[in-house]
Amino acid sequence: MVSNPDIVIVGAGAAGIGAGLALSRLGIFYVILEAKHRVGGRAYTDISSIGHLWDQGCHWLHSADRNVLRLIAEKIGHEYQTEPHDGYMQSFMNGAWSQVLVDEYFVWDLLGKISAAGRAGKDVAAEEILDRGHALYPLIRHWCQMLYSMDPENISTGDAGNYSDSGINLPVKAGYGALIEKLAQKLPIRLNIEVTAVEVLLGSVRIETSSGTIEAKACIMAVPARSFETGRIRFLPRLPRHLEQAFQDVPMGWFEKVAVSFDRKVFEGFDIPFADIFDPVADSTCPLNFELHPFGRPIAVAHVAGSVAQELSRESGAMAAFALETLCKAFGGDLGKRAVAVAASGWGNDPFIGGAYSCAKPEKASARKAFSEPVHERVFLAGEHVHPHYVATCHGAYETGLDAGYRATAAAGFSVGETDPLWLAT
Ligand SMILES: Cc1cc2nc3c(=O)[nH]c(=O)nc-3n(C[C@H](O)[C@H](O)[C@H](O)COP(=O)(O)OP(=O)(O)OC[C@H]3O[C@@H](n4cnc5c(N)ncnc54)[C@H](O)[C@@H]3O)c2cc1C
Repeated sequence: MVSNPDIVIVGAGAAGIGAGLALSRLGIFYVILEAKHRVGGRAYTDISSIGHLWDQGCHWLHSADRNVLRLIAEKIGHEYQTEPHDGYMQSFMNGAWSQVLVDEYFVWDLLGKISAAGRAGKDVAAEEILDRGHALYPLIRHWCQMLYSMDPENISTGDAGNYSDSGINLPVKAGYGALIEKLAQKLPIRLNIEVTAVEVLLGSVRIETSSGTIEAKACIMAVPARSFETGRIRFLPRLPRHLEQAFQDVPMGWFEKVAVSFDRKVFEGFDIPFADIFDPVADSTCPLNFELHPFGRPIAVAHVAGSVAQELSRESGAMAAFALETLCKAFGGDLGKRAVAVAASGWGNDPFIGGAYSCAKPEKASARKAFSEPVHERVFLAGEHVHPHYVATCHGAYETGLDAGYRATAAAGFSVGETDPLWLAT
């Protein structure tokens, strides 16, 4: 353990790495403590489980035209797709493929009504905005689950309205997790160290870990919101009441992926790389969204979210079986014989993550503001849940880390000077 650094960062996800880069640039003596055996958190590029690269967590540079991580990817030559796809997806409904009805714009149009309601000052459940009688309601519900990681009953329109989206989304060919890992390379990170308690004293912060106690002038908590919601990390004095409440009002939802690799490309002739399988069209059917042959790889990646993901996570192997069965429904049973390997993410069951991303409950959109406030003057929160406009994203998390880095530096008594979001440790 490092003895008495000026600042301790807890968590080496995008937010913790952003904070670390800010501190390295300022020449601050600091350390990042990470509970897992690897960096990246929910940015995780898996290169081994199915024999091909896929991202278990973030994959898209959202709002890519104003995304700081896209600029960094550009700067270091980390490969991403430079043009957005054409917006269409194919849907398998009632036993047949349809391309006309369910193009992506149709979906976005309906989903756009949720954020428009929020922007108009209405903070209610997204469910109230959607037309339950619409023939494709279950499909729209599925899309809500993927975007917000919650079911529409539990999504705040106000929170959705605060999200800023340029509509340009670009996937990272070389892996989004791999990008965050590259940025972490030169930083002082200690792996396999779990922080269990944070005590704020007069002029310092004492941090209890699985490997002993460490003291610093300030601390950045770049851990998922679930750690606070469940009280997994103990605080002394206790967190301010309104902040404790905010963690209850803005919980994390569920979003998991299942990746399947095949012995060859099995979706040849199917030129649209995205498919929603929704068969039969009925309230009881759970639609499933797939990305097919991303970057020409012989794989499919399924997206399962909201209560469907929560339910399937309870039983080992259930999510993978559901995804494979759904694929075979649309592409024929022989597809199963071509499958070589199947792997599923497990964010909800991961003790150090505990879910997908944050989503305010209806009427609670304003609760999120509490995450930006310093805690007992020396502790600063960073992470996807903290960003005012880019919530639930990797670049949003990264930006909050940079910001927390500068604020913690000032709290520790050092001068900050001008910020530079593109600075990297070389
Ligand atoms: C399936 C899925 C798909 C997604 N797709 C996208 C996408 O396409 N584009 C996008 O922009 N975003 C996407 N996201 C969201 C994005 O991945 C996250 O918002 C972002 O990675 C969160 O970064 P973070 O630093 O806030 O938290 P994390 O990445 O969760 O990092 C927190 C770190 O803290 C560590 N930690 C926790 N507790 C402790 C402790 N007690 N002591 C020490 N360390 C601890 C954790 O191990 C972890 O490494 C997706 C998320 C999921 C789950």
